This record gives sequence, structure tokens and C-alpha cells, in this order.
Amino acid sequence: MEGEGKEKMEERIDGKVDGKMKRKLKVIMIDAFKPAYLEYAPYLRSLVEGNEWGELTMTAGHWGCIEVLFEGKSSILGIFRKGDGKLKWLSWFEWLERFGKLGRLGVDVLFNIPRLFRGYEMFKTGKIPVRQLSKMDVSVGRHFAKNEWVDFFYFGELDDMGHEFGPDSLEIREAVREIDESLKGMEFDLIFSDHGMVEVNRVVEVPRSGDCFIDSDMARYWGPDEELKVIREGLPLEYGSVLDWPDKRFGDLIFMANSGVLIYPNYFNDRVVKGMHGYDGKDKEMRAFYLLDKKGERKDLNVYELHERLMGMKEGLRDGKKRNESDGGGKSGDELNDGSEKAPHPTSLGRSA
Ligand SMILES: [Zn+2]
Repeated sequence: MEGEGKEKMEERIDGKVDGKMKRKLKVIMIDAFKPAYLEYAPYLRSLVEGNEWGELTMTAGHWGCIEVLFEGKSSILGIFRKGDGKLKWLSWFEWLERFGKLGRLGVDVLFNIPRLFRGYEMFKTGKIPVRQLSKMDVSVGRHFAKNEWVDFFYFGELDDMGHEFGPDSLEIREAVREIDESLKGMEFDLIFSDHGMVEVNRVVEVPRSGDCFIDSDMARYWGPDEELKVIREGLPLEYGSVLDWPDKRFGDLIFMANSGVLIYPNYFNDRVVKGMHGYDGKDKEMRAFYLLDKKGERKDLNVYELHERLMGMKEGLRDGKKRNESDGGGKSGDELNDGSEKAPHPTSLGRSA
């Protein structure tokens, strides 16, 4: 008994008495935080001094890197991919397109309601033609971080602002300062961002076809070879390249824009935006950021390496968990909770843009 008491005491001292009962890895994601933003984040900078941290090289596209981080692999290139007809019913609502923004709100609601009930991430459908949307499927279900071993907290502001004002705008600097302030006093095992942000320096147009999906940074086409051949000839290949992606649900022909090149018009942006991401993760401006609650120094990693580190940390949770089980504690409400109620923004709506 005495020993147990002492242990509890120690836990309380390091503030983890709650943490031990439902010990999960505390992960904070700051969407679109670039390592260079440390300049405007004095608190984070002070953490970086003595801890393990570094630049993080991510995979290209959207969301795949988050799956890699938590699950070790991914075939995801973007949020939307060709489906097997599950969304076919949406084509009945094509008429909503005639009603502008209000009509689109209707499409978003119809599209997201089944997802809401399943606890899946919700996404804006932007300007995706409803007919095309009805042929698609979503590669992201439940958020990869929302699982039983992660306590997830999300900051989404920098992504929106980076798109709107550009990656090195005064608005971004101010938002970084605010987030830095909010981080004070927050416990964490890992803080990370999922990508950087690149200043848009060129706009290109791409061909459209009867079966295509035009993201801000990718144009994807499906169809017979002869048709694809013609489309390929019309692509602005000076400003991008054809990507050979094994999972053809993401496109039979995929054009990926070079870093800083925005495809416009596209299915998401109302106007030419100032910042974009989703490009080749090796681009310096695309680099993401990570910081561990561990003594150490700078070590730049790729997302697969960070996944390994995370798995090591997950292993380390075991002792705490066993103790909890032998206490006969059963499942607490918190254990079932994915922590989303604390997040300032429940999902990353419209993160494809
Ligand atoms: Zn974004």
C-alpha cells in the first residue's frame, strides 16, 4: 500500500495522475506550421532548445502523411478518389448547383451527414461538380489520430491563413504568436505539423474531361487510353509532372504541379490563393515540423522515421495501461473519448484546398 501511495504521489508531482489512468499519447497537431515559424514562437523555441525536434519530410498529396505517421503506411494521395458508386445517390441533387452558395451548403450537408453519424472526418465539397462527386469516394474515414492510444488536439488556423494571406504574411506571424501562447501549459508527447506552405508564384490551367478531378495542386483523369493521351498533350508539363501512383482510384493520369504552381480554376478555390501545399514533400518550403517531449537535439526526420519513434512511445505506454487494467478500473468515459471536444475545430474541413 505504501509503495502504491508513493507511486501515486510521484505521478501527481509530474502532473500525470490523470494521464496514467487513461494514459494516451498526447499529440498536438499544428496544421501548416513551418519550422521557420519558430522565429515568431518564443515558447516553442524555448522547448526546441533542449528537446528532440526537427524538420519533417512528408509525403506528397493530402492526408497520406497523417496516415503514415499513425499507421506506418498509406496509399492516400488526396481526399477524393474514384468510388464504387456509394455516392451515386448524390447525382439526384445535381439541381442544387443552380442555387449558388446556398445550394452548395445543401450539397455539403447531404455529403457530410452520413459521415457525421459514422464519426468520420467531414469535408467541404467546394466547387466539385455534383455529378463528379457522385462518382467519387473519400479516402479518409475516421481521423487517423483519433484512436484509443492518442489524445489529439488540433490547431487549424495556420492552414486557412497560409492559403489566404501567404506563408510569410503578417497575419500568419500573428496567428503563430497566438498559437504559441496557447501551447503554454499544454502537456504533450508530440507536437507536429502535417506540411509546410509554399508561396504561389504561378497559375496554370489544365484541361477538363468528362471524368476528372481538379485539385489545387493536382489534376486527375480517368478514361480510355486514347482520351488520356490527348489530355496529356494538353497538360502544362513545364510546370509539373505526370505522377505514377499505384492506386488508380486516384487517377489513371495524374498531373502534379511543381511547388508553388497553383492549378486554377480548380474545384476548391474561389480565387487565386497566395499559399498552397500538397506538393513534393522534399521541397524545403513543404517541410513540416515535429517536437518531442524528450531531451535531445535537432534531428531532421521523414514521416516514416517519426512513425517509428511514435511506435516506440506507444510501447512505452504499456506499463501504465496494465496497471490500469489490474486496478479493475474498466473503461472510463475518457478512454472512449477521442478528445475532439477539446479541439478548437472538430475536423479539418476543406483541407484539400
Ligand atoms: Zn490546406
